[in-house]
Amino acid sequence: MNKEIENKLINKKTKPTSIRILVYDFLSSQKVATSLSEIENHFDNADRTTIYRTLKTFEEKGIVHSIQENTTTKYKLCHDDCDEKTHKDWHLHFYCKICKQTTCKEDISLPESMETNFRIDEIRLFAKGICENCLETTFNH
Ligand SMILES: [Zn+2]
Ligand SMILES: [Zn+2]
Ligand SMILES: [Zn+2]
Repeated sequence: MNKEIENKLINKKTKPTSIRILVYDFLSSQKVATSLSEIENHFDNADRTTIYRTLKTFEEKGIVHSIQENTTTKYKLCHDDCDEKTHKDWHLHFYCKICKQTTCKEDISLPESMETNFRIDEIRLFAKGICENCLETTFNH
């Protein structure tokens, strides 16, 4: 397992230090986007600055993408096609007002190339509403 993560980090030109492996491992086990405090709570012994720096490095190297949600930033692992030059996470991010979880809706994606006379480096699409699980719970009551 660790070997696999090591290789993933090396492929993204990132030195596989132990904290980076741990954070990567934790993020890969999460289905939803996670905030710095949630990651911090998971690691009792690591300090906030170290985790924050790890996430910043991951973001620069195309390992995670961040989602700005009011005052909180959440992080989610990227796919292999993101690298240190470009993030290709051109999908909708969805925030559920009930369970307060943010998910990547990768089935709703934007066109890879749009013909414009200006250059688009990044697109952020953010939606708020009620997720499928919470909708189901609401209807079952
Ligand atoms: Zn990315
Ligand atoms: Zn929900
Ligand atoms: Zn995403």
